[in-house]
Amino acid sequence: MRKLINDPEDVIEDLITGLTTRNRALTRVRDWPVVVRAGGTGTTAVISGGGSGHEPAHAGFVGQGMLDAAVCGPVFTSPSVDAVEAAIEAVGPDRDVLLVVKNYTGDCLNFGLAAQNARARGRTVEQVVVADDVALADSAGAGRRGIAGTVLVHKLAGAMAEQGASAREIRQEVEAFLPGMGSMGIALGAALAPGAEQTNFTLEDHEVEWGLGIHGEPGRERGSAESARHVAESLVSAIVRDRELTADDDVVVLVNGLGATPPMELEILAGEVLTAVRAHGLHPALALVGSLLTSLDMPGASVTLAKVTDSQVAQLTAATEAPAWVLPTVPADIAAVDVTVESPLKVLGNGRTSPTLLAATDRAVDAVLDAESQLTDLDRQVGDGDLGTNLARGARAVRDHREQLSTAPDARTYFLALAHILRKEVGGTSGPLYALMALGLADAVAEGVEDPDRGTLAQGLQTAVGRIQELGGAQLGDGTMLDALIPAAQALADGEADDVVVLRAARDGAQATAEGAASKGRASYVGQRSVGVPDPGAVAVTVWLAAVLGQPQAV
Ligand code: ADP
Ligand code: MG
Repeated sequence: MRKLINDPEDVIEDLITGLTTRNRALTRVRDWPVVVRAGGTGTTAVISGGGSGHEPAHAGFVGQGMLDAAVCGPVFTSPSVDAVEAAIEAVGPDRDVLLVVKNYTGDCLNFGLAAQNARARGRTVEQVVVADDVALADSAGAGRRGIAGTVLVHKLAGAMAEQGASAREIRQEVEAFLPGMGSMGIALGAALAPGAEQTNFTLEDHEVEWGLGIHGEPGRERGSAESARHVAESLVSAIVRDRELTADDDVVVLVNGLGATPPMELEILAGEVLTAVRAHGLHPALALVGSLLTSLDMPGASVTLAKVTDSQVAQLTAATEAPAWVLPTVPADIAAVDVTVESPLKVLGNGRTSPTLLAATDRAVDAVLDAESQLTDLDRQVGDGDLGTNLARGARAVRDHREQLSTAPDARTYFLALAHILRKEVGGTSGPLYALMALGLADAVAEGVEDPDRGTLAQGLQTAVGRIQELGGAQLGDGTMLDALIPAAQALADGEADDVVVLRAARDGAQATAEGAASKGRASYVGQRSVGVPDPGAVAVTVWLAAVLGQPQAV
């Protein structure tokens, strides 16, 4: 199963059922693929629609303050004339109707004919056609396509209808708005239609489609894109040029995901788009970021810029109950607050760290960096695959602070500084655990001691183990780093044991973690899958311990 659907034949029905049954403010027209706002009564009803596959557009925008009804055609196929007429009937007999149509031949014909028929029955029906895609020249065969900017039109029209405007007044306002609005997108891959065996096109790793269509069709040209910044600059320039936006224009910025783009990437793109918009001298009055008009599961995004007046800003920010609308935000120049975090690093600088400690640290740093991919690989099998990266980040930070670290007045201060660096840089579960380890060592060493002896270090490790158990709740045998650390600390405390024995104790402990399913930490989530794989955190202990003890890495 590659899609969460029942039968490809039923996707529209099932979509409408889901949307309307979860929301008592929405209802549907029986036997027609039409979603209607329950109880809408204003002068004008705003109706939109088109082929499905663009969810949440359009049915997700039905609700007080936006659409009164949406007509849901088959996937990427215009709804029929009769379906549009059913929507016009469904909003009530005495209301003006404004149809918001995306510029595709099928939509224009079906909505246009439905409008004519309704007018012949005495209804007042106005229509606006959105053709915001600047990737296609005005002269293109069927004219420009309507894409994500359509959602802004829904909002604008819906807010005016809410205030009691007539369909004619709304049409005039939208017609004044449309010439200042342009959109353009980029596809990083193709969409797969329900029931289809394959996508309409495939892209190599380095390729993107500029000026995508939202119906699975390829874009205007295939090319490469280096980064979100590059994409933002290109799309913004194309729109600004095409719509002849000029410095000091107030614009609304919509960054729209196409269905398979994670929110993180949309936010990154939005930041770059705002920078590009400002670089053109435009003033971003509002920003909207989300997947509002998609193309099934297409990875990629589109950018829409629309010149706005103050009253249009008010309409775009007016309240709505449409479930899929995203709240517009007001952009600001990058803002940050400063906080001061006490850093023990500042007490360094008036001493000279023991060369023995520094050399041991250097060896541990190198060993962890060498083992990065091995540890990541293990964590990928039983955890989330970040352990090597986490520890390597810490190791690199320690290396970057080597100069400061070499000026500790005593070992205690040195360990405190190490704890600080690890706590700050490592993150994950390992970060705090390693910080506790360094703190335990610091606590065991008396002030002024430059080179702690073995017994002191053993005591420090045991203190650390106790705290790690207290905080993390794991015991020996739970399949964590403790399974290597506890036996090693015990062997170290035993005055008779030499380095080889200490390391052996850690390695045996780490090896034993492969035998049972881990019961603490991330590895516990994968249950039986962790059997046979040693705990990556325990293996990491053997890696740096061998280095600290000056023993070979190979077992
Ligand atoms: P995360 O699980 O947050 O991705 P890391 O990948 O940095 O954390 O660290 C994973 C390692 O942390 C595990 O392999 C395990 O050895 C150790 N660990 C997890 N939970 C505990 C715990 N409660 N006590 C001690 N060590 C633990
Ligand atoms: Mg991890």
